[in-house]
This record gives sequence, C-alpha cells and structure tokens, in this order.
Amino acid sequence: MKSQDADLLARRQQLLGSAYRLFYDEPVHLVRGEGAWLFDAEGRKYLDMYNNVAHVGHCHPHVVAAICTQAGRLNTHTRYLHEHVVNYAERLTAKFPAELDTAMFCCSGSEANELALRLARSATGRTGVIVTSHAYHGNSQATCEISPEDIPADQLPDYIAVVPAPDCYRGPHRGADAAEHYAAYVDEAIAALRKRGFEPAAFIADTILSSAGIGVPPPRYLQQVASIIRDAGGLFIADEVQPGFGRTGKYFWGFEADGFVPDIVTLGKPMGNGHPIAGVVARGDIVATFAKSSGYFNTFGGNPVSCAAALAVLDVLEQESLQDNAREVGDYIVAGLHRLAATHPCIGDIRGNGLFIALDLVVDRDSKTPATHLARNLINGLRDRGVLTSCIGPDNNILKLRPPLVLTRQDADHMLDILDAAMLELTPV
Ligand code: PMP
Repeated sequence: MKSQDADLLARRQQLLGSAYRLFYDEPVHLVRGEGAWLFDAEGRKYLDMYNNVAHVGHCHPHVVAAICTQAGRLNTHTRYLHEHVVNYAERLTAKFPAELDTAMFCCSGSEANELALRLARSATGRTGVIVTSHAYHGNSQATCEISPEDIPADQLPDYIAVVPAPDCYRGPHRGADAAEHYAAYVDEAIAALRKRGFEPAAFIADTILSSAGIGVPPPRYLQQVASIIRDAGGLFIADEVQPGFGRTGKYFWGFEADGFVPDIVTLGKPMGNGHPIAGVVARGDIVATFAKSSGYFNTFGGNPVSCAAALAVLDVLEQESLQDNAREVGDYIVAGLHRLAATHPCIGDIRGNGLFIALDLVVDRDSKTPATHLARNLINGLRDRGVLTSCIGPDNNILKLRPPLVLTRQDADHMLDILDAAMLELTPV
C-alpha cells in the first residue's frame, strides 16, 4: 500500500472507529468516476461491476447538471409548494400499477422501510412483521429488527418472524412446486406470531432476495405470499431498493416479474444516482389512514435538489434505454459466464435478472459446498486486475455482479476475460 493511503487508512480508523468496514485486502482509494468506470488516486482505471447506486453511470452529466442548476437556484423542503416534488411524484407513480398512486419521500432505503412499517402498522393496527432469512432492510432500530442478515433470528423481537428465503439451488425445495412450499412457511410464521400474541401487519421482502444471494424467487412465490398475508389481515411490502428502476431488465420493478401488486413499495439507492433520495409508493387509502393520526415531514426528503436529481435519473433511463441495456448486456454476461463454467468447476450456479447477477462459487458441484475462501481471494484478484465487485450470501461465496446500467458489451467482455484469468490463477485447470 502507498504511504499516503496507509496514512489515510490510519486516520480513518482512528476517527471513524472500527464499525466502518472497507472492501478488499488492499483498499481502493477512488477519486473520480465516469460511466461504469472508477479511477484511483494514481489514475488507475477500475471497471465497476458492483455499484448499483450510480445507476445511470458515475457522474452522469445530465444528473450532475440538474443537481448543480437546482442547487444554484433554491433548496428548501416539502412544506413549501415546489414543482419538482409534484412532477417527480407524477412521473414516479406513472411507473406503477394504478393502485399504487401515492408517493412519500425520504433520504435512505432505511428511512423508506421505517416509513413502510409505520404505514403498515397504522393501516392494520397490528405490529407483527414477517421477513425472509438473511434479508437486509436497513440500519435504523426498526429496520435492523427486520434484517436477519445483521441480527441472528433468535435475537429478533417476538413480533418478528423469519421465513426461509426461497433458494432453488441449495434449498430443500427446487421443483415446480417450490413456490408453494416456500409460501407455506409464511402460514407457519403467521401461526408462530399469533402464538406469541402478535397479529401480522406485514410481510416484507426484497423482490430479488439480494442479501440472501440473489435468489430470484420461484414464479408465483411473491404472488402466493401476498394472498396469504392479505388473508391474514396484513400487507405486502416490496423492498425495491436494489432491484428497482429497471435493473432487472425485463421489468421496471422486481415485483412485476411475479404478476401481482404489492400494497407498499420502498425505493432508494439508484433513485438519485448517488444523491440521497429514497421513497415509498403506496396505496392512497393506506397513506390516508396513517394521516388521520400523524403528519409526515422529512427535512431533506423530497427537497428540490433531490427531486431534480431523481427527475434527471428518469430522463436518462428513458433517453438511453437503459432498462433494455440491462436486459441485453445482462443476458450477454450470463451467456459468457456459462461459457466460463465449462472450464471452471468452481462455478456452481449462475442466476439473476438483467444486470443483477449472482455467480455462486462452490468447492465442488456435487456437494455445492460454498467456496467462501475462494470467493474472497477472487474478489481481491479481480480488484488487483482492475475489476471491482464483492461477495454476498450467508456464506459470502456469491460474487455479486451489479454494475451501473450503462455497462457495454465491451465492458462485459473485459470483465469476463479478467474473471477467467483471475479464476485460472486461483484454481488452475
Ligand atoms: N433495503 C435493501 C434491500 C437494501 O439493500 C438496503 C441497503 N443495502 C436498504 C434497504 C437500506 O438502504 P440505505 O442504506 O439507503 O439505508
């Protein structure tokens, strides 16, 4: 490590404390971004295969100009009339089925999920929440409680119940009836909550189960769960913080793949391309019930600069057809990964949608034992060769390929070549 970086690292550790974590054995010190590329302090280029926040590309000029123009004109909050927040709510809700007609704004995915919990609890008058295993929904107290990735299931409060996240690769149910089997766990969770004295207010899931390892839910799973939770008097919250805004290619929202309409949807990361804006889109009657007992104000949420950024993101998504690009380049990467799998037995499974792809690494394909150590070495090897990504899943053996949506086929070829070389070095064939 260069001496300036070692110095920065030491100061950082002293000042930020040990709760902050860095990627890679040798941290990357980034100073600039453009499109799908990042640059370090020495001018070295890295292909960004990880960052979904810079959704339409790092420092996209249209988004940067929109932020700068509005920041130079006015920035206040939602207690004054302003066109941007209304225009954005109009364009955003137009992307949803008609029932989901009301938008509320905040600054992070955690805040969006907090608000969703409050909405669901006020609409139902209940407190119980069902979550999928190894899910992550935020960093606040209430959202940590629905994040089994961070808090072991046996330490969660009694009003939270955890169901196994569908896993059609390693899990116990893989066939045509997998969705039914996994949905049945929700019935069991409802019964368990009731035994503890809690009625279910909501079921919440990231619609691509990203923290659990990008396990695209089996067809009709989400749909079946929605009817189970509604029959029990609860609501379905779709966390679209990761899959939303066209990332999965075929659909703009992850839930659309399963042909059902959630009651509440939460949004974040890509919404402002890095500018902190997040939100909730819900049925108007749910918001109206909440509003009977509580107003909603968020000092920074939905301010004119944030909304200018979010409007510009929608412009770019449309003008540059980035949802189509996610599908096309995503399919291209998946085909390339399948070719690599022919010579790399450590590739156990390839799954995902659009530019949200999981490469599940195994010790051997029969046992499907997670190759945690190999995955760690691989992401460090990729980093050393100028490709940035990370690992996820309960065993940290799944490479997460989730680049900005402007990734090109040439970028994809570059990534596949580097991946091939990095894997060859680790497990020579
Ligand atoms: N939901 C999901 C699915 C997430 O992945 C995250 C962030 N990783 C959050 C919610 C929380 O978002 P934030 O970090 O913006 O609070």
